[in-house]
Amino acid sequence: MIYLDNAATTCPDPEAVARAEKFLTDCYYNPSARYGGGHEAYTAVSSAREGLIRLIADPLEYSLVFTSCGTEADNQAVFSCAKGTVIASAGEHAAVYQSVSELKNRGYDVKFAPLRRDGSVDGEALLSMVDKKTSLVCVMHVNNETGAVNDIVSLAREVKKRNPRCRFFSDGVQAFGKLPFRLSKEIDYYSVSAHKIGGIKGVGALYKRKNVPLSPYLHGGGQEGGLRSGTENVFGIMCFSYAAENRYASCAEDYTRVHALREELYERLAKTKFLRISSQEGSPYILTVAVEGARGEVLQRMLWDRGVAVGTGSACSSKKPFSRVIEACGYPKSVLGGVLRLSFSVQTTEEEIIKSSAALNAVAAEWKV
Ligand code: PLP
Repeated sequence: MIYLDNAATTCPDPEAVARAEKFLTDCYYNPSARYGGGHEAYTAVSSAREGLIRLIADPLEYSLVFTSCGTEADNQAVFSCAKGTVIASAGEHAAVYQSVSELKNRGYDVKFAPLRRDGSVDGEALLSMVDKKTSLVCVMHVNNETGAVNDIVSLAREVKKRNPRCRFFSDGVQAFGKLPFRLSKEIDYYSVSAHKIGGIKGVGALYKRKNVPLSPYLHGGGQEGGLRSGTENVFGIMCFSYAAENRYASCAEDYTRVHALREELYERLAKTKFLRISSQEGSPYILTVAVEGARGEVLQRMLWDRGVAVGTGSACSSKKPFSRVIEACGYPKSVLGGVLRLSFSVQTTEEEIIKSSAALNAVAAEWKV
């Protein structure tokens, strides 16, 4: 199987899994236990935390809370600091979009900033919405449906110029481990997820500037400095930190190589059939295209039968069988139904690109409108 759905999840990094295995077999102790084994597990989690912080941030400025997934980290950030007005980009992943929508149900003033054609947020429109009542601005780093990269550093800086007390949160799930990037002090919260970069499912984290508030979402034994109770997933956390180390050891080289693979794939696609939605400047790990008039989920099944796994434009409700995000980019209905998301990992090879492009061209040619 050629796996081109890495934005959905990645194959666990075998080296990271092997290194972490001892926390499943030998050192399975509860990190809160006060004997030697518990201390060993606790120390391992602390060093994973420290290592993950150092990869993208200044440890003097940022702390990190482990969570059960990116979704939990997103929820915790949104519900922690929202007060009067909350602004989010219309492109946010459901984990943020639905959280912010829930705030609206609870009576908050919620505004969504429009998207540009490639799925990035319209920065001017977003900034024009910010005022003294704005408590939180949410702009994802890389859009999971189109790969568009938002310049979160300059957006956060501009938001703070307009309202220094406003918090800035970015969902970094599709950027972490893939884009060479460091958190700058204007970004208050940044969420990440292990399974998108070779860790296992069920582990995420929220980076937080040390001087900003964060409310616990789960109450209990007081783990994670009281910010996230629940016994830590030690194996998952260790896997995450080893996988992240591996990704950052070659992040810039991988970026260049995967960029070339993505462009090669696009070059090989029949231009009469495929419309490109992802821009060249977007994350190289995502190429979103559409076959006008086709049904993405049918193409997806046809590709699976030919040995290629791809994603589609994700639908958010049965009433709308297409993605609200691609719709917000301004595409007509004839395009929305036929969206395919091809997403890559550091393991993707040129041979896979060549074979999958042939399969994509074949299924697009077979499609009868
Ligand atoms: N945010 C973005 C941008 C994502 O792409 C995803 C997963 O697809 C999530 C959040 C949710 O992450 P998790 O699957 O760890 O809950």
